[in-house]
Amino acid sequence: MTSVVIHPTIDSGKDKGGGSFTGGTLVCECVTNPVKVKVKTDIAHNHACGCTKCWKPNGTLFSVVAVAPSDKIEVIENENKLAVVDPAALIQRHACKDCGVHMYGPVERDHPFKGLSFIHPERFEESGWAAPGFAAFVSSIIESGYNPDRMDGIRARLKELDLESYDCLSPALMDYIATWTAKKNGVSAS
Ligand SMILES: [Zn+2]
Ligand SMILES: [Zn+2]
Repeated sequence: MTSVVIHPTIDSGKDKGGGSFTGGTLVCECVTNPVKVKVKTDIAHNHACGCTKCWKPNGTLFSVVAVAPSDKIEVIENENKLAVVDPAALIQRHACKDCGVHMYGPVERDHPFKGLSFIHPERFEESGWAAPGFAAFVSSIIESGYNPDRMDGIRARLKELDLESYDCLSPALMDYIATWTAKKNGVSAS
């Protein structure tokens, strides 16, 4: 079963980390003049993501993605190499034009995730960040060409890795989004 490639940092056995991480520097894959982005606080909601939009290393099915407050994020080197992948998308993914790594993706429009940026903690130079806690948008790997008949194997492997599979986000994040929407619509909880 270990032949299933979820993501290199997950398949290699999780370093649980977390609790004491205070931020670090994200570096793209460029050998010369890499883009460097400073994250000045801990990350939250780290997870494996199967969607088609997140950046993932070549040959892996899932990305590893987390959030941090946008105001704690600063591009410190080679900002001129960054471009927004899809300006129409909710997440403004800033990718390196040379190597393609997504360095940070702020949410700026009116949305529950406004003020947060999505980042890929595997690009941290430092270790100690919290390991992924769940797998989101698992069914979406089919959209990237994964054989639907082999999904049972993927979900079994995720379970083996202690990652609960969801076909959207985790219940905590879905509740968070719904709470924001209810509030926005003036619905009061009873
Ligand atoms: Zn690069
Ligand atoms: Zn994703």
